[in-house]
Amino acid sequence: MLSESLDQLRSAVRNVPDFPKPGILFKDITPVLADARLMNLAIDGMLEFFADQKVDKVVGIDARGFIFGALMAQRLGAGFVPVRKKGKLPWKTRGVDYSLEYGTNSVEMHVDALAPGERVVLADDLLATGGTADAALQLIRESGATLLGSVFFIELAFLEGRQKLSHGGSIHSLLTF
Ligand code: AMP
Repeated sequence: MLSESLDQLRSAVRNVPDFPKPGILFKDITPVLADARLMNLAIDGMLEFFADQKVDKVVGIDARGFIFGALMAQRLGAGFVPVRKKGKLPWKTRGVDYSLEYGTNSVEMHVDALAPGERVVLADDLLATGGTADAALQLIRESGATLLGSVFFIELAFLEGRQKLSHGGSIHSLLTF
């Protein structure tokens, strides 16, 4: 993707200090979402990593991953599958617990959301410590689907989240901070 386009996307991401708690510099993507041209660039850029690969399903993580994942899926003519926080999905689920700085969290996917052998890409807005994405990747693996890789709109490289993604597939991010 053109470096000019990447610069435009990068400068549209708003930094919000001390949100949601002191010491966190929150990357606010709503200015990108609000601009159709920028959002097109973002989706184009995220899809480039999987150009020429057949993708059956895009898995998006609750909640901002739904936006990027669903738009990617539409462009690809692929289906979209949500990974949600525990207790939100109505049908039979499979879940994974993962640890946070303090305590644990759980994510779930419907048991029939992915079929063995389907070719799957994971999408989310941001890779921070990698705990959430790694749990989602585990769910994809357990389904028997073929994991092509993961793509993030933003990667916070200093948190080294990609080291935590232990379930294989390629790892890509459009913007690195
Ligand atoms: P993690 O499990 O640490 O990789 O965090 C994953 C999720 O937390 C991402 O999907 C983001 O939506 C959110 N998140 C974590 N840190 C930030 C941040 N600094 N700015 C915006 N979102 C964040």
